[in-house]
Amino acid sequence: MEFLLANEVLYIQGGSITPGDEPGLIQRLVRRGAKVDPLDFVGQSKRTLRVEAADLDLGPELTREYPHLTLLTADGDPILASRRADGDHRVFVGKSELNDKALTIIAGPCAVEDSKILREITSGVQASGATVLRGGAFKPRTSPYAFQGTKLDGLRLMHEVAQEFDLPTVSEVVDPRDVEAVSDLTDMLQIGARNAQNFSLLSEVGKSGQPVLLKRGFGCTIDEWLGAAEYILAEGNDQVVLCERGIRTFEPATRFTVDVSAIPILKQRTHLPVVVDPSHGTGAKNLVTSVALGAVAAGADGLLLDVHTRPDEALCDGFQALSFTELAELSTRAQAVYEAARVAHISTSNVMQSAGAV
Ligand code: PEP
Ligand code: MN
Repeated sequence: MEFLLANEVLYIQGGSITPGDEPGLIQRLVRRGAKVDPLDFVGQSKRTLRVEAADLDLGPELTREYPHLTLLTADGDPILASRRADGDHRVFVGKSELNDKALTIIAGPCAVEDSKILREITSGVQASGATVLRGGAFKPRTSPYAFQGTKLDGLRLMHEVAQEFDLPTVSEVVDPRDVEAVSDLTDMLQIGARNAQNFSLLSEVGKSGQPVLLKRGFGCTIDEWLGAAEYILAEGNDQVVLCERGIRTFEPATRFTVDVSAIPILKQRTHLPVVVDPSHGTGAKNLVTSVALGAVAAGADGLLLDVHTRPDEALCDGFQALSFTELAELSTRAQAVYEAARVAHISTSNVMQSAGAV
């Protein structure tokens, strides 16, 4: 059997790590020099133990002595992405925070362009309700001949502008070799849809300890997406936010199809905050507001939005960018929907709890 050893951490799970079993097992692990943390997940009767810096040969011995325990295998289901019983997960992005208590608006240009445009957009999105600035500097483009982004120069500029406006930032990293440099210049790393299953990149951003916005691959199931999140979490980095940005379906009327049902499914299965990107999801500015409001009603904790001062001149994705006025109006309406939906979600979860469904 292969044991799940992520970052020298072993995970043990069993329906019957009973309170009776636990002290003996934990004592034994601690005597071997391990640090043991019990983890509880919502909806799972199984208890999980996180065992750090244990003797890596411990697996066979434990299987012999505790045959009813499962040592999680490398192919196991996502564990760390499962919803923790202690809930209340907070992801810190500079002075902002993503959680399930407030709606966060992340907005900015698809791509960082020049200093004047970036300053205009930053000032506009800040005044229109955004508390995190987005901007791509390393752009993953379908064609190698398309604009590839302003790269490190763009990131340096974004860092400078964000400091001036005192706004935290999120920006995409596409190559494991750039993780350190991008981490130095942004508050949150974005993994784009096209890299959603680039496992070496996921491990690298996990190791960086930086908050990560993990987009859904447009060909990924929810399980595959949670598996991708698990790669980051398994490196000991719990600062992960999931971003639904549409999946590929047979429908050509929109750029992708925003999967609204993924939102409540994720809220039931994981404690990680869920953000929705209706800009890339629809690819049409006249659809962004409706889909954004629908996503918030379905339980999204935040929105990621493309905004531009002069969409027609934008170097990337101008057709889906909102104006400041549109963003300001959306922020106000989304806040109202969030509050109404929160009441609905709280009462639904109470009903589910009292029916023993959670
Ligand atoms: C983006 O947010 O700039 C982006 C490229 O999005 P996605 O990876 O979802 O296509
Ligand atoms: Mn884009």
